[in-house]
Formats: sequence, C-alpha cells, structure tokens
Amino acid sequence: MNIDQSKIPQATAKRLPLYYRFLKNLHSSGKQRVSSAELSDAVKVDSATIRRDFSYFGALGKKGYGYNVNYLLSFFRKTLDQDELTKVILIGVGNLGTAFLHYNFSKNNNTEIFAAFDVAEDKIGTTVGEVPILHLDKLEEHLPDGAPVAILTVPAPAAQSITDRLIAIGVKGILNFTPARLNVPDHIRIHHIDLAVELQSLVYFLKHYPSETSV
Ligand code: ATP
Repeated sequence: MNIDQSKIPQATAKRLPLYYRFLKNLHSSGKQRVSSAELSDAVKVDSATIRRDFSYFGALGKKGYGYNVNYLLSFFRKTLDQDELTKVILIGVGNLGTAFLHYNFSKNNNTEIFAAFDVAEDKIGTTVGEVPILHLDKLEEHLPDGAPVAILTVPAPAAQSITDRLIAIGVKGILNFTPARLNVPDHIRIHHIDLAVELQSLVYFLKHYPSETSV
C-alpha cells in the first residue's frame, strides 16, 4: 500500500475523514465490503466521485463485489495518522469556543483539545469540558514546543496577532472560525470556517437552486 499522498487532490483529501467515519461504523457492524452506491447513499457524495477518490487510494472496487472495508480502513488510519493522538489548543473561550470544549472530538477521531487560552480574568483558572483555561499571556510559557493544531474562536480584530504568536511556537494548522482573513507563511495551513457566511450561502442556494441537493 505505497501511495504517494502528494498525488491525492485536496478536494479528495477533505472527504477522507467523512469516508473514514462511515467505514469505521461499517467495520464495527461486521461488514467486509461495501459498494460505491452504498457509500454514496450514506455520505451523500455521488458514486462517480467516490470511485475516482478511491482510485487515488489504490482501492479499485470490483464489479459485483465492491470495496474491501479492511483495506480502506487501514489506508485511512495510516493516512489520517489515527494511530497518533493530535493535540489541539483553542484560543477564545466565548460561546463558540465553549461549545467546542464541551464537544468530544476524540470520540470520532484521534484529536484532543488539551488546553484553551483566553484573556478574561474570570475564565482563567477554570475548566470547561475538563479542559483548563489559561491566560493567553502564558501561551509561550505553557507551550514552549507548541501544538500542531489550533482552533481560533476569538473576536476578529485579535485574530492576526494571535496567529503570529501561534506560528512562532510551532503551530502548523489553524481552524479559523473568525471572519478575519489571516496572513500566514506558505507552510502554514489555514482552514477558514465562517459560520455566518455558510448560513447565508445555504439560504442563497435554497432560494436559487432549490432542486439541487449539494454543491
Ligand atoms: P463567540 O464569538 O465565541 O460566540 P462571544 O460572543 O461569547 O464569543 P467574543 O467577544 O466573540 O465573545 O469573544 C470570544 C472569546 O475570546 C471571549 O471569551 C473573549 O474573552 C476572548 N477574547 C477576546 N479578546 C481576546 C484576545 N485578544 N485573546 C484571547 N482571547 C480573547
């Protein structure tokens, strides 16, 4: 199973966790194989896209047989680094940040928010969802070696300066929930999720493309 991961298109890579979650459920219910039509129905991705995606993983479905669930699972586990726990920090324990701290990400994948940072004195020293809240002034002190991933749920004006500090301590990936567009060096990966924009876009598509199910 020697797949050159740099050959996997980004759009395909983004669907990997979705496939992985579904296949894990299939595996635990004892299923050995799955057809692209079944997968398509479950994850709501059309089956031509699934077949193309899976061809990048070296998984060639057989007509009348489908895909081998064990093969796919071991590929996904390896590719998504699920053998290793990825440590995540969160900055900004407001409404959104608090919800993420309560949400148990490690239930479905091997990631864990292990520390959160804020500047509000009344929040410092408390815990939310078992995660300790520390003062942002202490970021470099608490995390001299950084963490690979950070979730940003601060007000937009604070986002860029915090991002610069995160990069300085070695953060490589940022899930940015603020509306701020962040400037980062090329080796840093930002995934930008603006919930207000997503909601607006959903409403727009419902209005203008009512018959299509997804984009
Ligand atoms: P949310 O946007 O998550 O719903 P909210 O409306 O409760 O949050 P915001 O004003 O957006 O509150 O702030 C989010 C959190 O970020 C708050 O807990 C706030 O104390 C914290 N915060 C504000 N400025 C900074 C900063 N410069 N550094 C770190 N945390 C900050």
